[in-house]
Amino acid sequence: MNKKKGSTILANRRFSGSLTLAIVLFVSILINSCTNSPESAGQPNIVIIFCDDLGYGDLGTFGHPTIRTPNLDKMAEEGQKWTNFYVGASVCTPSRAALITGRLPIRNGMCGNRRVLFPNSIGGLQDSEVTIAEALKTRGYSTTCVGKWHLGHLPEYLPTNHGFDSYFGIPYSNDMDWAKPDNVKDWKHAMKEPEYEYWNVPLMRNEEIIERPAVQTTITKRYTEESVKFIRENKDQPFFLYLAHNLPHVPLFTSEAFQDTSLRGLYGDVIEEIDWSVGQVLETLRTEGLAENTMVVFTSDNGPWLVYDQHGGSAGLLRDGKGTTWEGGMREPTIFWWPGRIQPGVVTDMGSTMDLFPTACILAGADFPTDRIMDGVDLSQTLFNEEPGLRQTMFYYRRTELYAVRLGMYKAHFITKTVYTKNDTLIHHDPPLLFHLGEDPSEKYNIAEDHPDVIADIMQEVERHQAELVIPESQLDRKKPQ
Ligand code: MG
Repeated sequence: MNKKKGSTILANRRFSGSLTLAIVLFVSILINSCTNSPESAGQPNIVIIFCDDLGYGDLGTFGHPTIRTPNLDKMAEEGQKWTNFYVGASVCTPSRAALITGRLPIRNGMCGNRRVLFPNSIGGLQDSEVTIAEALKTRGYSTTCVGKWHLGHLPEYLPTNHGFDSYFGIPYSNDMDWAKPDNVKDWKHAMKEPEYEYWNVPLMRNEEIIERPAVQTTITKRYTEESVKFIRENKDQPFFLYLAHNLPHVPLFTSEAFQDTSLRGLYGDVIEEIDWSVGQVLETLRTEGLAENTMVVFTSDNGPWLVYDQHGGSAGLLRDGKGTTWEGGMREPTIFWWPGRIQPGVVTDMGSTMDLFPTACILAGADFPTDRIMDGVDLSQTLFNEEPGLRQTMFYYRRTELYAVRLGMYKAHFITKTVYTKNDTLIHHDPPLLFHLGEDPSEKYNIAEDHPDVIADIMQEVERHQAELVIPESQLDRKKPQ
């Protein structure tokens, strides 16, 4: 049921976007075409591996002392490890919308008072949005989405209506559709010793439900097999694989081979299975002779869900986790891999999942939407030529409110909030809290008093940002007509 609508949309839309971004992109495209043109490498395949609720500190290569991630460690050694890479929101739905559209959720309607979409939601990603898959389709890419979608489970919002040729996965979070089993005291107990039957989540192929409840113990394994099959079947043409794992979002499940195998309990087992999965994908690319023509990105949608104790991950040295606008909520362990093309190393420049859209378009030679404000910047000069990154700011939204802004190394918090506790506290800060993330990555030492000039610069960025902001109807808050 794929509508293949990308080319018409991209070609016909009226220009009304951000001039600054457009110029940056245009210059970037020019530079790119003079140095590393997409044609020189052919149209590369693009693979995005996206985890759910993985913490900044949960991988060996990002400092975890006991979780073994040999495949991700090797991927980071051969590729680039990005240590200042952000998502567009600190919970699932808005974060995924940011990646797939290259825009902040405040612009695409995928944020609201309800923080994510639920099985009783009626909204979803609008047709008027352009997705990475739609842009790549215009250049002849085969596209598939394997895993968690969470941008609308009704037919009109599914991946097959947003530029993906096919879909295989659970359309929302793996803790939804609570089945209220008689033998379990409550939800919290269920999370501690989960059985997949406790959650009646569907597994879909394209627009059909093929299994319910989804057997989550084998879900990572099956997503991996599906991805490997897609790579093999599409090796003779450019392809885009969006592999979005449902895990390590609670409830945690692993296949038999990974049960009780890590030193970090069930959470560690889950991460080690995901690491195995990454190894399978990279090995397939190697054995099929595709590694030198494929860019693989590994990251996650938001930080660890800390209230689940040992079933939640770790943000390492970063403060707090999922649901917050502290660094632990929105900075993710990120690795880019493309043997022979990406310069191996560690990148401390800022990047964002929103940057993957323009970067993919440039690599594929695809048109980039110019009729709207895009929040992504092209990363290719940093990835391939070790040049400084183009991203200077990061806007941290919670629901529809701007809580914090990063400009260069400085981050100002206007609002902070504790989350997922009985007594959540929301605090407005005037003057804002100010942290230097280079010297103080854990956001411990407020230096606002010493740097009124920096705060003034950040306020200017906020004014500029808000002046051109058009907020559409929230898809998350839409309700069935009574
Ligand atoms: Mg998540």
